[in-house]
Amino acid sequence: MNTSESPVVVMKFGGTSVGDISRIKRVADLVAAFRQSDPGVRIVVVLSAMAGETNRLVRLAKECVDRPQPREMDVLLATGEQVTIALLAMRLCEMGISAKSLLAPQVRISTDARHTNAQIESIDSRVIEDIVAAGAIPIVAGFQGISEEGDITTLGRGGSDITAVALAAALRARTCYIYTDVPGVFSTDPRLDPNARLLERVSHEEMLEMASLGAKVLHPRSVYFAMRYAVPLVVLSTFAGACSPGINGTWIVREEELMEKPLVTGVTHRFDEAQLTVEGMPDDIESMSKLFDALAERDVYIDMISQEGVGSHLVNVSVTVPDEQSGLALETIRGIVPTLKANGVTVERDIAKVSVVGVGMRYHTGVAARAFRCLAREGISVQMVNTSEIKMSVLVTRKYCEAAVRALHAEFIG
Ligand code: ASP
Ligand code: MG
Repeated sequence: MNTSESPVVVMKFGGTSVGDISRIKRVADLVAAFRQSDPGVRIVVVLSAMAGETNRLVRLAKECVDRPQPREMDVLLATGEQVTIALLAMRLCEMGISAKSLLAPQVRISTDARHTNAQIESIDSRVIEDIVAAGAIPIVAGFQGISEEGDITTLGRGGSDITAVALAAALRARTCYIYTDVPGVFSTDPRLDPNARLLERVSHEEMLEMASLGAKVLHPRSVYFAMRYAVPLVVLSTFAGACSPGINGTWIVREEELMEKPLVTGVTHRFDEAQLTVEGMPDDIESMSKLFDALAERDVYIDMISQEGVGSHLVNVSVTVPDEQSGLALETIRGIVPTLKANGVTVERDIAKVSVVGVGMRYHTGVAARAFRCLAREGISVQMVNTSEIKMSVLVTRKYCEAAVRALHAEFIG
């Protein structure tokens, strides 16, 4: 297909956008309006399941058995998207627009075999290219794939974003539109801070950090794909009224395309980490490596690390891990406390990680100083810190999360 003559766009609609029949009809109208506003463009649609449906399926499985087999879980979870794609395709056909619903095996979205958390390995774009070349609109089921063994897989919760961006990359799409129930990406969570602003443009890398650090609007892996294959993404509302896209919403683009490089673009937070502290451990490198070897052996993902001297060659070492792994991490460390000659280990769940993200940090210094001063003014003490080239995260007690977000937003964004 000659994409320069007939650019492709991917339009992805999330669960609330297809949450009931009237909304599916609205999505059909949006697709039709898009086509009319730009007749030269080839549209590919990706859908989520109806809002709440995937949760309902998870509940059914849990009611049925104690531990659902991952393979069967995927067969079950993948049904949600099958419903919405068929409904949208029949609605479009009735409107006189040729459309065809497609499941992952038909589009050959190949994944590894890690059931319920599979990763896309390749997409055979020919199937879709043939359909668009024939003038029809493919309506593809998000969130699902097929393993080499021919089994249905799913990509992890929120995974239909990944399908959309991976398809956009495979088809060299001009743009991937992510239609959702909010107007775009905000500088922070508007529910926490009324001063949150709708962002016009964000770089892929900033968005990747923001999505990983708590912004829920996009799946981090979808942003990773967008960055890797330089796919421009637009996050916009299905319900904003305007049918022509690109006017509202947030563009996620290559960093070179940003007019300004703000010091801080977004302030995010997340609550899903736990902090473990090994108390009174000998201050030597062997003990440290024993501790981290033991955690690595159990595949515990470690985010932040800090060490604090407590005198007479003893230290307290703290790490944060995903909350769902905190039980495993605790058990692992307890098992080696005697070998480490430490006093014990404690776990703290009542914490929040608050982060500031911005490409401007690459070019300017002093962000940490300003952030600490600002938090100190509010009387918020920081338990741990973690930085990279374009972000700085602090760990605070959960009750200070909102105050920390607001203070940092006021300090850096206004
Ligand atoms: N339906 C799936 C979920 O709820 C995938 C998605 O909506 O992105 O997680
Ligand atoms: Mg989503």
